[in-house]
Parts: sequence; C-alpha cells; structure tokens
Amino acid sequence: MEESKLLRKAEIAIKSNRIIKLEARDSFFYIFVFLGNGKNGKDHILNEKSCDCKSFLFNRIYRNTNMCYHLIALNKALENEDFITIKLNSKEIFEIITDIYANGKSLKLRKVYPNK
Ligand SMILES: [Zn+2]
Repeated sequence: MEESKLLRKAEIAIKSNRIIKLEARDSFFYIFVFLGNGKNGKDHILNEKSCDCKSFLFNRIYRNTNMCYHLIALNKALENEDFITIKLNSKEIFEIITDIYANGKSLKLRKVYPNK
C-alpha cells in the first residue's frame, strides 16, 4: 500500500478513537492497543517501534523497515496526545493481552472501552 493511503487510514483510526493506552493502576506498566473494528477486525498490541500485525513482520523481515499503518497511527496519536487512556489493574491488562493472542481480539477490552 502506498504511503499516502497508509496515512489516510491512520488518520481515520485516530479519529475513530482506536488507539488505546492501557495503563496499570498498580504499577508503571502500560501498553498500546490498536482496536480492530467491524466483525473481523483484529486488535493489535504495539509500541512506538513494533506491532504484532503481519504487515509489520513482512516489512521488518523483507524490507528492513518498521512500518504498518497501526504504527503510523500510534506515532501520530502520541504526537498529538490523541488517544484513549484506560486505567486497569495489571491483572486485567494481562487478561486483555491473553484475549488478543488467543482470539485476535478482546471482548474484555470492549467492555471497558468508554462509551462516548
Ligand atoms: Zn501493525
């Protein structure tokens, strides 16, 4: 996908509040999650430099770049402080991570996601 398209997708993701910071109440731990949308949308766990999606892996291994639209979205969101922060106990955060690895997305995350 060309870069301008990736940027556009990233901007839409930010506008629809899909960049989430999960922050532990009981420690300094935090992670970022890119919330998938629609029925088949997958959640992704990421930080400023890496993402767990296939296109990140592909770019990393075959092109030696760190690139996917989730990462572009996260870095833009960080620049503008335009993301959702949800505070949970670290146990709950680990449940969400386990959910995402086991099922591709987390129902628990959807339950704690603030309704706007
Ligand atoms: Zn990604």
